[in-house]
Amino acid sequence: MKVRFWGTRGSIATPGKETVIYGGNTTCVEIILSDGQRVVIDAGTGIRALGQKMKAGGEDVDFYLFITHIHWDHVLGFPFFSPIHEEKTTIRVDGFPNCMKGIRYPFENRMGDGFFPVSFDDLKAHIIYLDKLRKGPLHIGDTIVDTVLLHHPQGGYGYRFREGDRILVFITDNELVKGEAEAFDPYVRFCEGADLLIHDAQYGPEEIKRRRGWGHSNYEDVVSLAMKAGVSKLVLFHHDPSRTDLELQRIERHCVEIAGNHNSDLVVEAAREGSELTL
Ligand SMILES: [Zn+2]
Ligand SMILES: [Zn+2]
Repeated sequence: MKVRFWGTRGSIATPGKETVIYGGNTTCVEIILSDGQRVVIDAGTGIRALGQKMKAGGEDVDFYLFITHIHWDHVLGFPFFSPIHEEKTTIRVDGFPNCMKGIRYPFENRMGDGFFPVSFDDLKAHIIYLDKLRKGPLHIGDTIVDTVLLHHPQGGYGYRFREGDRILVFITDNELVKGEAEAFDPYVRFCEGADLLIHDAQYGPEEIKRRRGWGHSNYEDVVSLAMKAGVSKLVLFHHDPSRTDLELQRIERHCVEIAGNHNSDLVVEAAREGSELTL
């Protein structure tokens, strides 16, 4: 499997000179399976550039789109994903049960008196709702995709991709609470033995005290989760919009130190827009 980061930011896009290294686009991650099939997780603003790349490739666009949940930062790039205007495009949508509502709503111009100039029903692409993930694991070729419920306002799904002996877990917008069985232990089980864990790490230990219930994690708790679950590599994700590149580098170093202090082999880094990882 390969993972490409098109959007790593949480809450709102943050272009500018202080977000050049880790990126300013909101959530969009592309997963390329060994047989070449593609899964895209979330349609944040990062999906615009992915659309340009797909079109430049010249091949028919055909992929799975899994939506974690429908908060704006995870769906608002969809109207700007240019393959939606091509008849040769097929998008197999699945995810949290309200996912279709989430990708449709930014186009709705009846209720909001003009959110967007094009209506969803006029899009040329074949956009199919699979409606499978809420019923159980989904098989794509040799890959099995499982979900876990997020600890986040209005809920959502985290995903685990198992391909042979390789495991990738993607969990964003999730509030871990150490010592609270329901907000920690299920995620340890879900992440068990993952080669790569990508997890929400929006806040630090001081910030989280003022932001309990907002649905995001303290990066120190995320490192604890990864160590407890025996994860090989942790990628910190859903960076706070206020976070500069310099601060993210500091957080990266701090998390590496925590793992070192526990004599853990865990590798930690912060997600960078435009980067690619292979597992
Ligand atoms: Zn978010
Ligand atoms: Zn959210």
